[in-house]
Amino acid sequence: MNLERDKFLIEQLGECWHEWEQQIPGRNRFTCKICQAITMSHNFKLGHMIKADYPENIDLSTWQGFGKLKELLDKKELLFDLIEWNLENIDPMFHKIAIIELFTKEKFASTVYEFLKNNNN
Ligand SMILES: [Zn+2]
Repeated sequence: MNLERDKFLIEQLGECWHEWEQQIPGRNRFTCKICQAITMSHNFKLGHMIKADYPENIDLSTWQGFGKLKELLDKKELLFDLIEWNLENIDPMFHKIAIIELFTKEKFASTVYEFLKNNNN
């Protein structure tokens, strides 16, 4: 997970990069300080203490994240531009392998990030 990248991309998607706040210390109910979303997190007993897991924002270098980024590019009609941009400084002999590499989880997330940062769309 790359926090700076994922926060930027989630905001590009028009979604909230949640900042969770625990409502009652030790309890598993969290509210987002920004959008007021509420989530329950799995908790477990640890001796007499109840420890609540802090909910996390999406990691975009997963297949779930890949799907979200693909939707973002489709919505902005930028998938073709992204592929072209990604191939700009690559010898045509290596274009096929570069495209295959692009469609891997981590590479796709970081390329979409660099592309959107540099192209200001
Ligand atoms: Zn939120």
